Amino acid sequence: MDDNEQAPSELETLTLALLHSRGEVERLRERELLVSSLLAGLNAVLWAFDWEQQKVVYVSPAYEQIFGRSAALLLADYNEWINSIYPDDMEYAAQSLASVLEVGSVEQREYRIIRGDGEVRWLSDKCFISPPNLFGGQTLIVGIAEDITEKKVLQSELHRLATSDVLTGASNRRHFFEQAGTLFDEAVANGRPLSFLLLDIDDFKKINDGHGHQMGDRVLQRVAHCGAYVVRRDDLFGRIGGEEFAIVFPGCDSEQARQVAERLQREVQRLQFHNDGQGFGVTISQGITSLREGDELEDLYARADAAMYQAKRQGKDCIVLG
Ligand code: GH3
Ligand code: MG
Ligand code: MG
Repeated sequence: MDDNEQAPSELETLTLALLHSRGEVERLRERELLVSSLLAGLNAVLWAFDWEQQKVVYVSPAYEQIFGRSAALLLADYNEWINSIYPDDMEYAAQSLASVLEVGSVEQREYRIIRGDGEVRWLSDKCFISPPNLFGGQTLIVGIAEDITEKKVLQSELHRLATSDVLTGASNRRHFFEQAGTLFDEAVANGRPLSFLLLDIDDFKKINDGHGHQMGDRVLQRVAHCGAYVVRRDDLFGRIGGEEFAIVFPGCDSEQARQVAERLQREVQRLQFHNDGQGFGVTISQGITSLREGDELEDLYARADAAMYQAKRQGKDCIVLG
C-alpha cells in the first residue's frame, strides 16, 4: 500500500455494503417479478395452506382468474375456498385434503368449483406436505390446482362418441351389451327380477325403398326418441342393429316391462311422416322375456328374439311375451 492509498473508512465500507444489498434487493425484486409473471401465465393455482391455523398463506395470481374471486378475501378467510367447492364434491375435497397429512401427498384430486360468476369448473389438485425444515417448522400443505374443465368436456364427449350410436343417440350395440351384462349379473346376484325387450321396425325396407334412405334415417331417429322417452331412468335402451332396438328393465317382471312396451307401441303409432305431400306412419314388433332360474344373458336375448319373430308372424305391430 503506498502513502496515498488509505484503508476504506467505516462509512465507506457501510456505503459499499448498502449498495451491494440494494443490488441484491433489486435482483430479488426482479426474480419475484419473473416468478409472478410465470405463475400468472399458468392455468393453475399454486397455493400453500397452514393446516394448524386452517389458513391459506399463499395463493398465486391465477386464483383470481380461475376462481373469479378475490385472493385477498381468501387469504383472510379459508371459508372462501370451501364455499367455492361444488356441494356434491365438498366431502371428497375435505377428505382428500386431510389425507395429504396421513400419506404425505395426493397425486390428483378432482373436484368442481363454482366461480364467483356462477360458472362451474373442474380442478385437478396435486398436493403434498412441505419439507419440515422449510417455513420455520410449520405444517404447510402446498398444492397446484389445475383447471381441467376443457379436458373433462373432451373426455365426456369422447365417452359419448364411444358409447352411443351416431344416428339415434341411443347406446350403441357394444355399450348396450356391456351394460346389459352388468345389469344381468347384478340381478342374478341379488335375486332381483329383470326383463329384456327386443323391437324391430316393421317393413322398414319399404320405407327406405319408397321414401329414400334419408327418410329411413329420420324414422330411426324418431323411433329411438320414443324409446328414450318411455323408458325409466334405470332402464337401458340401445340400438343393436339396423332397425332393431333393445331395452333392459332391471327390477321389472315381464308385466311391468309390457306396460312400458305398450306405451312405446302407442307412441310409435302416433308418429307422422311426410314426403312429397304423402303422409305415412310406422309400426314396430316387440318381444319381451324375463329372467329365469339358470339363465345366461344369451338365453334372455334368444327368447326375446323368438318372441319378436312370433309378433312378426302374428301380423306385426304387436307385443309378444316369451
Ligand atoms: P320386417 O317387417 O320383417 O322387419 O321387414 P323389414 O323390411 O323391416 O326388415 P329387413 O331386415 O328386410 O330390412 C331392414 C332394412 O333396414 C334393410 C337395411 O337396408 C335397412 N337399414 C339398416 N340400417 C339402416 C340405417 O342406418 N339407415 C337406413 N335408412 N336404413 C337402414
Ligand atoms: Mg330387422
Ligand atoms: Mg324390420
